[in-house]
Amino acid sequence: MRYNALNILREGLRGNRGWRPAWRKPEPRGSYDIIIIGGGGHGLATAYYLAAKHGLSNIAVLEKGYLGSGNIGRNTTIVRANYMLPGNSEFYSHSLKLWEGLEEELNYNVMHSQRGIINLFHSDGQRDEFARRGNMMISQGDDAILLDRGGVCEMLPYLDYEQTRFPVYGGLYHPRGGNARHDAVAWGYARGADSRGVDLIENCQVTGIDIENGQVTGVQTTRGQIRARKVGIVVAGRSSQVAAMAGMRLPIESHVLQAFVTEGLKPCIDHVVTYGMGHFYISQSDKGGLVFGGDLDFYASYAARGNLPMAEHVVEAGMTLMPMIGKARVLRSWGGIMDMSPDGSPIIDRTDIKGLYLNCGWCYGGFKAVPASGDCFAHLLATDQPHRVATRYRLDRFETGIGLMDEEASGAQHNLH
Ligand SMILES: Cc1cc2nc3c(=O)[nH]c(=O)nc-3n(C[C@H](O)[C@H](O)[C@H](O)COP(=O)(O)OP(=O)(O)OC[C@H]3O[C@@H](n4cnc5c(N)ncnc54)[C@H](O)[C@@H]3O)c2cc1C
Repeated sequence: MRYNALNILREGLRGNRGWRPAWRKPEPRGSYDIIIIGGGGHGLATAYYLAAKHGLSNIAVLEKGYLGSGNIGRNTTIVRANYMLPGNSEFYSHSLKLWEGLEEELNYNVMHSQRGIINLFHSDGQRDEFARRGNMMISQGDDAILLDRGGVCEMLPYLDYEQTRFPVYGGLYHPRGGNARHDAVAWGYARGADSRGVDLIENCQVTGIDIENGQVTGVQTTRGQIRARKVGIVVAGRSSQVAAMAGMRLPIESHVLQAFVTEGLKPCIDHVVTYGMGHFYISQSDKGGLVFGGDLDFYASYAARGNLPMAEHVVEAGMTLMPMIGKARVLRSWGGIMDMSPDGSPIIDRTDIKGLYLNCGWCYGGFKAVPASGDCFAHLLATDQPHRVATRYRLDRFETGIGLMDEEASGAQHNLH
């Protein structure tokens, strides 16, 4: 059933009795052409594009919890295309273009808001680095404007410009960046995939991967065995555990990342703002809460919750930059498990096992990647060829050392990206 003004009016007059659930609750069948493990943003988008672009619908998405219960519903919702290195640059540029048409494509309001992102810089050296990044973004066809301190002050008058330790020198403004409602993205893709015949199977945990003579033949689940000749692993923070079911050891470490939200306030922060000298980023949700986050908790873990030292660190950074937020009360904090790769860039590739495909390593930047990741992974699953914007996301770069994409020059340490 399409969402449009006429249907809203019609249903309003009929007591809203005609709306149907956004997706079915099918029982798993014995076999499918393709199984996607993981009903997060990336898994659902993959299923959607397999059906919408490649005409395949004999597909199941197997989700151990409920759809959207993972990181897709836990992130701070920032969407941007401000990457610098070849490989990342064209991929995220493609993703932002897909975001710009997503609501029409899905007939679903994902509340994509291009309110602009401002990355602050605090030294001459950092200005040079941001100018270079901005030029790379423009060469890629995206938008970037280098602001001096006065330019930032006009847009963000509430920052503490006088702080002596890390004074604000300026900012790199990316007007097409912004955010979107995270769980609506999962729901929109789920509805789109379901309406094209994909079975979305919740409460179905994959517990084993069946392989015969080097070829995938299906999966074992808490709801029985399901056969398939192609299986895609798209489980974010659980990638290492699920790949281990196929005997693979991935170059992935799982780390905790926390986020925070305050009570609802009147509109006071119009953009997404990131601090250049501490790991702190903030925006205001449409409900009025200030949504902010910081760095990883710096220990590997599968517990989707954080601890207090990082909470203190994040709040300190926020208070240094914009002391006004000290008046707001923090309502909630939560954590998600990040699939950190050694170079901070993702993997979308085949594996050595025939029919087994891998999509992981999104670190803490995978929300903005959802549309392009789904598009590219669907392309790989359907055609066995990498999508033109994802050719560099190879798994073997960590074995050969060729083609590493260390966007922030942090070195080969997972938790630094
Ligand atoms: C606090 C926080 C802030 C973030 N902020 C941003 C941001 O501002 N911008 C940005 O771009 N990115 C951000 N991210 C990162 C982004 O959320 C993730 O990179 C992205 O959501 C991961 O992909 P996904 O949506 O598919 O993951 P998930 O939603 O985690 O999906 C994976 C799914 O696999 C399921 N699964 C796992 N094991 C199994 C199994 N054995 N069988 C069946 N199913 C299984 C899980 O239950 C889960 O639902 C943030 C993340 C966090 C935690």
